[in-house]
Amino acid sequence: MIMEYPAKFLKRTERTPTAVSYRFTRHKGFSFTAGQYMLVNLGDKLVHPLSLSNCPEESNFIEFTKRMTSSPYCSRLESLEKGETINIKGPLGDFCLAESHETLVMVAGGIGITPIRSILTSLEKKKENTGKVILLYGNLNREDIAFKDELETLKIPNYHLVHVLSDPTGMENVYHGFISADIISKEVPDCSNAHYMVSGPPVMVEAIKKALASIDVLGDHIRTDMFLGYK
Ligand SMILES: Cc1cc2nc3c(=O)[nH]c(=O)nc-3n(C[C@H](O)[C@H](O)[C@H](O)COP(=O)(O)OP(=O)(O)OC[C@H]3O[C@@H](n4cnc5c(N)ncnc54)[C@H](O)[C@@H]3O)c2cc1C
Repeated sequence: MIMEYPAKFLKRTERTPTAVSYRFTRHKGFSFTAGQYMLVNLGDKLVHPLSLSNCPEESNFIEFTKRMTSSPYCSRLESLEKGETINIKGPLGDFCLAESHETLVMVAGGIGITPIRSILTSLEKKKENTGKVILLYGNLNREDIAFKDELETLKIPNYHLVHVLSDPTGMENVYHGFISADIISKEVPDCSNAHYMVSGPPVMVEAIKKALASIDVLGDHIRTDMFLGYK
């Protein structure tokens, strides 16, 4: 059920030099599924859709993680004082796990990791049997990788993380460049029959859809979450 409530600001956590998590109180009636988003209204017409980056099993709070820009929205976020309230409306969207698959491939571009982090931490907490879960995570460089340690140590059976970096300095066993059809075919067994969840800026999501089409993945095996508002 979609609801609207005033949420109290609790905590700010810097995830990378350009990605910051903001934690707020969770209303008892605010129930969401991992992968969904909400409308975050800071007043003065400053409203953005933002994915919940924490998982539903964390019952005391909600959190989103924003890529910081020089926008008025980000300036307002940075000026929030602890205890101040903002307006939350949600949950919205259906970028969620529908069923379990033999192989599920999550593809995240930069800040597009937010709904995927929610889904993966939820899977870890629920300890349900899953098939193979592969995360292909593209970023600019090492320091740009949000939730790095956590994602590298998730306790999900049959889980495998692949980093793809534009600049791989300081990291070993990572791919150099962008996530591509070539990398997908190398890392995903029987890649044309796997199921994919792709999240990130529109340009990245479109590029991955093209890459998947080129290796014969059918459209109904692909779910996407486009972060409109980023180039
Ligand atoms: C479903 C969904 C989930 C998202 N989740 C996240 C998240 O978890 N973390 C995150 O950092 N970002 C997320 N975004 C993107 C976010 O809503 C903002 O659009 C983005 O962060 C840019 O905001 P800004 O304050 O940095 O810049 P702004 O200056 O506010 O926006 C940049 C430009 O994009 C345009 N724009 C802004 N929002 C939208 C929109 N929703 N649709 C079309 N044009 C728009 C503005 O008019 C402006 O021209 C999500 C977007 C969607 C649609």
